[in-house]
Amino acid sequence: MDQSGIDALAAAPVSARGLFIDGAWQAATSGDVLEVVSPIDGRRLTTIADAGAADVEAAVAAARRAFERGAWSRAAPAERKKVLHRIADAIEREALALAVLGVRDNGTEISMALKAEPGSAAQTFRYYAEALDKVYGEVAPTAGSVLGMILREPVGVVGAIVPWNFPLMIGAWKIAPALAMGNSVVLKPSEVASLSLLRLAEICAECGLPEGVLNVVTGQGAVCGEALGLHGDVDVLVFTGSGGVGRKLLEYSAKSNIKRLYLELGGKSPNVVFADAPDLAQAAKVSAAGIFRNSGQVCVAGSRVLVERSIHEEFAALLAAEAKAMTVGNPLDLKTQAGAIASEAQLTKVSGFVETTLTEGGRLIAGGARILAQTGGSYFAPTVFDAVTPEMTLSREEVFGPVLAVTPFDTEADAVRLANGTEYGLAAAVWTSKLSRAHRMVREIRAGVVHVNTYGGADNTVPLGGHRQSGNGHDKSLHALDKYVNLKTAWIQL
Ligand code: NAD
Repeated sequence: MDQSGIDALAAAPVSARGLFIDGAWQAATSGDVLEVVSPIDGRRLTTIADAGAADVEAAVAAARRAFERGAWSRAAPAERKKVLHRIADAIEREALALAVLGVRDNGTEISMALKAEPGSAAQTFRYYAEALDKVYGEVAPTAGSVLGMILREPVGVVGAIVPWNFPLMIGAWKIAPALAMGNSVVLKPSEVASLSLLRLAEICAECGLPEGVLNVVTGQGAVCGEALGLHGDVDVLVFTGSGGVGRKLLEYSAKSNIKRLYLELGGKSPNVVFADAPDLAQAAKVSAAGIFRNSGQVCVAGSRVLVERSIHEEFAALLAAEAKAMTVGNPLDLKTQAGAIASEAQLTKVSGFVETTLTEGGRLIAGGARILAQTGGSYFAPTVFDAVTPEMTLSREEVFGPVLAVTPFDTEADAVRLANGTEYGLAAAVWTSKLSRAHRMVREIRAGVVHVNTYGGADNTVPLGGHRQSGNGHDKSLHALDKYVNLKTAWIQL
């Protein structure tokens, strides 16, 4: 990868973006726009449309019309497959430009964005392109006098609301399986990071997705997100974001049409390091990456390190050294390991957690403050607190920033108790060279994914989703397809 290519793309102006409804760009009905500020340097990048309820209405109506017309919903699976493959090809061709656009919008370091954003989005479209014509209905084992068939039908209009940390990747996790099953989609990106998803909508249209099948409304969550959540003609709503908004969506569903909801929410994921870990230095390196990449703005971030007391001092020192060695800075620089915090509001939140932890008695051993303020951008030093007790706020609440809590434990039972001592259940890791201990921990920890001797590895073949208050939906893998279909029984007297 060539730095000069990145720099050239980053120098280009970004044109103002409207809403993508029924295959065409349009301004918000009100004419309102939101300023897009880059967290790299605090400068204005462009504007996006600030959609209101009338715009959401238009987008849902377009999605419904497209669904009823059937050009996509009733197309042969082989036809849908061709289009999804073309989209994957186009994302791959445009990967660098998409990654740079996204980085300018949300500040993720480009080395990670390239893999996690266009890289992952292209793979996701390809995975569901390949999967969609391998999904069969069923014939039930009934008595011979009847035929019971189980059909899978598209649900109709899918609403998708996504966050700012990996917009293309998470957007693709929703859009690709929804389209694969024949649905129409209304997508609401985060107001903090909409640009790459707006370009994706255009790419989809260029690749032959019929008009109205994918619509994108941008704007404030409490306005256009709420309108989508309350809409009576959205059949299924898939969401990735915070628990607070997840709760609101449950209310909106109850107040409107009881639409089916799938919520991918936050986490406070435990990373459990036993004294018998195969390689402590490697464990520290991977654990640091597991919390500090994308400056901690990762839902599965291993934000709580639980470490066996006999190696506690040594391991905490290794983590502090890793944090201090991290290259934080301009996310468009290929050498940067941790980029910007996506918004000033989020940086203020991160600072608040540091203040609270100091007040509650956490021992700061790395970072702890805003850095690079002279750039005008939003940067925070990778931060490690030792001696964090389970009662402290940092053990319980998600920071969504580069702040790591270290807590010692004495026995395996203690480790399990501490790991599960959270309302969340998204991800976890265990570092041990004992096979039986690894398997016991996998069974005992209440989380959607438990890594062993690694952190964060996964691909499209396995589901990602939480247990408990980390949510109820699963993105990725064949399991995700179930969210986007209705089962229908045909009962036929022979
Ligand atoms: P957020 O909940 O603030 O916003 C998410 C989306 O919801 C945005 O598009 C926002 O505009 C919209 N929204 C806000 N208020 C709304 C409302 N009243 N009605 C409808 N929509 C509304 O989350 P965020 O700050 O963008 O992202 C961070 C959160 O997302 C963290 O909690 C993180 O853990 C979580 N997350 C989870 C996963 C996962 O797979 N489980 C992945 C990434 C992020």
